[in-house]
Amino acid sequence: MDSGILFRGAKVDAEGPLVDLLVRDGRIVSAAAGEGVPSTEDSPSPESTPSQEGLRLIELDGRVVLPGFIESHMHLDKAFLEERRPNLSGTLQDVIAITLGLKKSVTNKDIRERSERTLRLLVRHGATRLRAQVEVDPIVGLKGMEATLELREACAGIADIQIVVFPQEGIEQQPGTEELMREAMRMGGDAVGGIPYNDTDPERHLDIVFGLAAEFGCGIDLHIDFSDDPGECVIESVARRTGASGLEGKVVVAHLTSLGAMDGERAARVIGAIAKAEITVIPLPATDLFLNGRDGDPPPASGGSPGCANSSPPG
Ligand SMILES: [Zn+2]
Repeated sequence: MDSGILFRGAKVDAEGPLVDLLVRDGRIVSAAAGEGVPSTEDSPSPESTPSQEGLRLIELDGRVVLPGFIESHMHLDKAFLEERRPNLSGTLQDVIAITLGLKKSVTNKDIRERSERTLRLLVRHGATRLRAQVEVDPIVGLKGMEATLELREACAGIADIQIVVFPQEGIEQQPGTEELMREAMRMGGDAVGGIPYNDTDPERHLDIVFGLAAEFGCGIDLHIDFSDDPGECVIESVARRTGASGLEGKVVVAHLTSLGAMDGERAARVIGAIAKAEITVIPLPATDLFLNGRDGDPPPASGGSPGCANSSPPG
């Protein structure tokens, strides 16, 4: 057991007194309000000073202490690529095209270095758990998986990383991707990713994703849609599939920008289906506000949206 660290004067409650936190072996072993050292059996006596007992003392002076933040959607393998080739148009299409071009030349070492650089930034800003979308396809192969698995192991004491096996380039339109996803899951993926809007047939894409989730007994994390057009949504299909597969509480959808373009009645129905299926929605405004609405078309008028192929209520 190490001697520990005493964080003195931590604010853990907006209304309550400041607290002294004693940390040993990476865990908070006691917390005591007010001045002094916690009076656990193996702590220093109240009269002694922490330094005399070999404790490292850190004065917080009322700074707020919180549990580590969770970064729920992160692309470690694509981080800092903008430095190499900026996306001057700012469109989603160019983001995907530029990244695809760069992806052809990346190495395991390169992915590992950029991923670690990103992880260090995250931890420095308080995030200690993150879910990484790791691209797997015939272009990059399993390099991203290898690099992220290495990073996960090397940084196990600093941050917990969940890996989503992510087919950014589509599954059917990039033959070989499904088998690579299967291999990535065997290597240590935690959830099956998907991107129905970037494939030849979104419903077929979902067939494969839900099939892989059943095969590996895991959850799903989808880039569900990236559209200002409610006609391009598949969220209702995903809600139906989630219920039918017994995956309530294990499906995550990100972006879902089509929801903002729906009329109120339809949006309420979709939100109800999402709630019933216990789907987690991760809005990503930093990306969506930057990339969406670039064509200058206004969103559809309320009550006049074109609807989508799967607009019937979920069964
Ligand atoms: Zn993403």
